[in-house]
Amino acid sequence: MVIEKIEAFVLKDELSNSFFFSQWEYAERRICVVKVTASDGTYGWGEGYGPAALIETGIKMLEPIVVGEDPLQNEVIWNKMYRKTLDFARRGVLMASISAIDIAIWDLKGKILGLPISTLLGGAHRIKIRPYATGMYFTDHNNPTKDFEKEAKLYISQGFKAIKMKVGLGIKEDVANVKKLRGIIGDDIQLMVDSNHAYSLREAIELARKIEKYDISWFEEPLSPEFYDQHYELRQKTSIPIAGGECEYLRFGFQQLIKSKSVDIIQPDICAAGGLTEAKRIATLASTNGIDLIPHTWGTSIGLHVALHFIANIESIPGRMHQPDFLIEYDQTENGLRDKLTFPAIEMKDGYLEVPNRPGLGIDIDKAVLERYAVCKTTFKKSIL
Ligand SMILES: [Mg+2]
Repeated sequence: MVIEKIEAFVLKDELSNSFFFSQWEYAERRICVVKVTASDGTYGWGEGYGPAALIETGIKMLEPIVVGEDPLQNEVIWNKMYRKTLDFARRGVLMASISAIDIAIWDLKGKILGLPISTLLGGAHRIKIRPYATGMYFTDHNNPTKDFEKEAKLYISQGFKAIKMKVGLGIKEDVANVKKLRGIIGDDIQLMVDSNHAYSLREAIELARKIEKYDISWFEEPLSPEFYDQHYELRQKTSIPIAGGECEYLRFGFQQLIKSKSVDIIQPDICAAGGLTEAKRIATLASTNGIDLIPHTWGTSIGLHVALHFIANIESIPGRMHQPDFLIEYDQTENGLRDKLTFPAIEMKDGYLEVPNRPGLGIDIDKAVLERYAVCKTTFKKSIL
């Protein structure tokens, strides 16, 4: 059996209400997903994180490398894609294209073998994962937190035990917003903050020190991802754990992040950092160095399921009889591509998401929904390169 066809779809969901954070405003969600089909008709789905049109172009470039290959030899295919693009794709969007294809091949391999991806990775240490709500974005430029109370109370009523809020508007405003949200959610809900690299070192130290008293589980992307040494310095000056890595790529990038002692928690996006093949190596690197790993997710339900299988397989270090819950990022902003694109629907039960025990990712695409959201579909020809 060989890989016969690759199709990329750029999907767009126009939002009924735009929202913003420290860097820009979202009025739509636009994501590239990919379908890889084998010669017997079995197929798998993958997703790339980043600018959809560029990821689609990258997939077009990679297609001749992948078509004709045996889908069970997924590491070999990964290496061919990596080696043939190494001069141009050590970081960035082309790596998201590689990630999307790699994930689709894992899904395809699982479906061919009749096994869930968590089993292919080596097995599930856990079959349910505790989601944390990513939300608390800003909806009104004159009154950015006007929906905070309603939104936070909704998450708690849904069973979330952890919420991540956005900071990065300015120190004074951030401190007031953190205080406000902690007051709304009480002391029993975990609270994380994410500035999306909005601050200088001096500002990040000041903000961290001023919000330490609100029991913050981690401060995500406090600084520009390029400033490894400054992250280390920040870690020495606050008791809040520092998290980052959603802009980092490959095991080599994460090695740099870990070696520089920049963060307490690494957050690779599996749909960009090199796919499941590379994420497994990044997890090995994290466990070798005693660093926590909680993947970044931001996209469709394909990416969310990728993270579920992956987290199921992460080993507990240190091990102990009563293990703390492993967390998965569960974005709660408006996104039809996350809620409607695949079936069975994602269901949170008693505050957990279950890892599917079905072949591959354990989901399929709703074709009518795919067609409704697709702004572009490309079936590639082998003559592109
Ligand atoms: Mg983030």
